[in-house]
Amino acid sequence: MSEDRYNSDYVISIWDQPSIAVAGGAAYPVRHIYCVGRNYAEHAREMGTDPEREAPFFFMKAADSIVPSGARIKYPPRTQDLHHEVELVVAIGASGADIARSDASDHIFGYAVGVDLTRRDLQQAMKAKGRPWEIGKSFAQAAPVGEIQPAWNIGHPREGKISLLVNGEIRQEADLKEMIWDVDEVIAELSTYYKLEPGDLVFTGTPAGVAAVIRGDSVNCTIDALEPLDFSISAV
Ligand code: MN
Repeated sequence: MSEDRYNSDYVISIWDQPSIAVAGGAAYPVRHIYCVGRNYAEHAREMGTDPEREAPFFFMKAADSIVPSGARIKYPPRTQDLHHEVELVVAIGASGADIARSDASDHIFGYAVGVDLTRRDLQQAMKAKGRPWEIGKSFAQAAPVGEIQPAWNIGHPREGKISLLVNGEIRQEADLKEMIWDVDEVIAELSTYYKLEPGDLVFTGTPAGVAAVIRGDSVNCTIDALEPLDFSISAV
């Protein structure tokens, strides 16, 4: 193979940097996607667990599972039970480890509406066997996220309505203030495990009402003060 086939430092071509649109601006590049499990009491109950206030727990999705608002999402393979989980997404803007709760907002660039799409049947099967649930949570197009609103525009929302509709019917509706661990506590705790970096997203957990979406469904999500997130599940 002739040398001119290689015109960069890499032996294969580089893929596109996953990113999310920022309201009125350029794009926010995505580095990691961290997610909080069971952060609303009613959702913990519907998942069959006691919503006592133990330390929040975390899992991850691959950065390239991001899809923008308006996407038509292909129903993922190996599941018969694809669930929606609408969540407030925090976009980190300044690095830090062991961040104090009182400093957490200084590390936040902005906020968006996201959905933690979940292959629930795979998650439950792995959970039952004590295995990692990654195949239930991280897959192609598993993380629809709407435009990011910078904190300099909207401040730091800690209350306000969060909702998800499927084909115009309300499935999930709650208030951000019902989180068991608020955003600042989540950032503080997460930053004891990982040094947070610009480009890191944090999905902050979903309220009650998680349920299945099927091929052809249309999903509309809102959080007060944020850009709405809309997507559909491809009919084929
Ligand atoms: Mn979730």
